[in-house]
Amino acid sequence: MGEKADSDLVRRQNRFLLLAALRLNGPMARVELGRHTGLSPASITSISSQLIADGILEEVEDHHAPALPMRRGRPLTQLDINPKSAHVVAVKISIDGVELALADSRGAVVSRRVLRTSTYDSDPDDFGQFVASEIAALLARQRLSSRRVARIGIAVQGVADSQAGTVVWSPAFRTRNIAVAGVIQSRLGIACTLANDANMIAEGLISTDRTRYSGTTAVVFMGYGVGMGLIIDGKVYHGPTGAAAEFGHMNHLPGGPLCRCGRRGCVEAYAADYSILRWASGEAETQPPSFTAIPEDRMLVLEEAAHRGEADATQAYAKAGEALGYGLARLIAILSLQRIVLAGPGTRAIALIEPHLHRAIEEGVVDELRRNVEIEVVPIHTDMIIKGTIDGALRQVDREVFAYGPPARRHAVLEKIA
Ligand SMILES: [Zn+2]
Repeated sequence: MGEKADSDLVRRQNRFLLLAALRLNGPMARVELGRHTGLSPASITSISSQLIADGILEEVEDHHAPALPMRRGRPLTQLDINPKSAHVVAVKISIDGVELALADSRGAVVSRRVLRTSTYDSDPDDFGQFVASEIAALLARQRLSSRRVARIGIAVQGVADSQAGTVVWSPAFRTRNIAVAGVIQSRLGIACTLANDANMIAEGLISTDRTRYSGTTAVVFMGYGVGMGLIIDGKVYHGPTGAAAEFGHMNHLPGGPLCRCGRRGCVEAYAADYSILRWASGEAETQPPSFTAIPEDRMLVLEEAAHRGEADATQAYAKAGEALGYGLARLIAILSLQRIVLAGPGTRAIALIEPHLHRAIEEGVVDELRRNVEIEVVPIHTDMIIKGTIDGALRQVDREVFAYGPPARRHAVLEKIA
């Protein structure tokens, strides 16, 4: 029994290794796969034929190979993930919006839907069912049975309890502890996980460039809120329940401006869009923040004013940069960060924020600790939350479905969804 269990484990590990190498590097010839995984040519041949027979991999022609008219025998083929082997759904929940994306098993988005809805006023008891119905409608439009969807990943703004599948607290909702993942899972019969949105940006970065993000990196989301995904030794650190790295609600100044979380002086109360706008408009710090999304136009007007040098606007961005910088300086000191990634729509104003952020880091931590920290900005047009949620879901499918055997392959008969 022991030997059988061992060989099953080795087989699963090898299948996963091969899939992980293809996810990271794209299509590869068998020889290259051997080099990337360290597996013998015989193992690569046997594992890849199993995966092809299971419909998980397919052979593709190498379009980048130089034309060799003299080459004899079989054309040069590469292995790649079969895009039809399974699908995943990514859901992004943020203040005033729910976004859904259906992706194939290579991670390409097949269909997308953006819903503007007042999440704050929604009935917390019905919210999970509402999202489940929207997913069902998305699948129905694509004439895709729910059996062909291997996993649903949900990214939520705020504090998420990944184990319980609940939104512990989010500015998107009036009430706390909203059950989401379990409701969707039992309604649609598809495995469903829920995580913090900034953690999903970190997942997306790791799958884009595992070498670059192999060390200790803090990913800061700037925009409708301030969030963080923390990569420690190349892995996203979720903490025991998934609520780790709540950088936005770390205190910057005791008794400072009122935050959406109800406390005062959080980093977010200086650096989120609503905080920058409140500061620039000269509103009182104790003014309760609005719980609706700030339209992009209003932020664009404010950015222009700051670029023109209007004092209230430039000061508001300076305050944001300071709060972020001092907070990051503390993290550099504690974690010996190697890299800081700034992401999200708030980075559009990075030129206004960055000098103050740098100055605060310089002031906040000794030179020896900050000298090797690299700061980079992820282009704002990339929707890293959706990408990271898809990548994270596919990694789970590789580990929990594809590593074991063929996915449940049934004909795409549209299921009757209640
Ligand atoms: Zn807060």
